[in-house]
Amino acid sequence: MKILECSTIDIAPTISRLLKIPMIPPAGRPIQEVEIYAKERGCKKAVIIVVDSLGFSLYKYLSSSMKNLSEIAEKGLLFRCKSPATITSPAIASIFTGYLPEEHHIYSTADIYIERAKDSENPRLKSIMEWAYRAGMKVSAVIESEGAESFRGRIKDFYGVLDSKDILDYDLQITNYSVRALKEKPDILAVHLRALDRFSHRAESWEELKKAAKIVDENLGEIYQNAEFGTIFFICGDHAIHGGKKWLKGAEAEDIRNHRQNLVALIVACKQEA
Ligand SMILES: [Zn+2]
Repeated sequence: MKILECSTIDIAPTISRLLKIPMIPPAGRPIQEVEIYAKERGCKKAVIIVVDSLGFSLYKYLSSSMKNLSEIAEKGLLFRCKSPATITSPAIASIFTGYLPEEHHIYSTADIYIERAKDSENPRLKSIMEWAYRAGMKVSAVIESEGAESFRGRIKDFYGVLDSKDILDYDLQITNYSVRALKEKPDILAVHLRALDRFSHRAESWEELKKAAKIVDENLGEIYQNAEFGTIFFICGDHAIHGGKKWLKGAEAEDIRNHRQNLVALIVACKQEA
């Protein structure tokens, strides 16, 4: 499979281009390969799924445990994608807004409010979901409660799941809400699955991590199954895996390089009738 290159800040402007969502052009640029791919297939809706900690090298290692995701990738495009942040909040803000952390200044959920208080119309704080909502489109987000709360007044449909010690149950709730959200036929749905990240901190073996990956993969499959035909999926990591020391033991030079450069996997695929 051919591996393409991009940055996670390119995702929002790409969706803006594909779905014709008016947006002040951010720092990221529309990904040409995706534009060509989507045009040929007539994709009209988008789902963004952030798989926490899905680094590019990690995806390579786990893809045999992630059957659904591998199948989706085979129908679509695989990118080695530069992420501008090594922790979750700024990394996801970059995916959703198309700006670098030093531009959006969102390093924690609380920062969203702090930055908006300075200028509530700052385009660098506006997610692609918000731009779409303003253009009259139907938009949904399914993320952790506090993050979801920050969408209040900015988009109409958002589902928050309370943070939990049981991260598998947490992701299952996220998945169930996502399926429910898809029944409303949104133009854009944004989802954040966290189990892989939590396991990367706690697990001590690859076996444990693979088990988590398998469950994440089941959730991905469930969401994919419930989307309409003509929906383009952007499934990506937010940053390379935490605990590099533990996971890079015996790794090849290329994987260490990918990790140091904070490269994540981005899979883009349009769901089509067989
Ligand atoms: Zn993360």
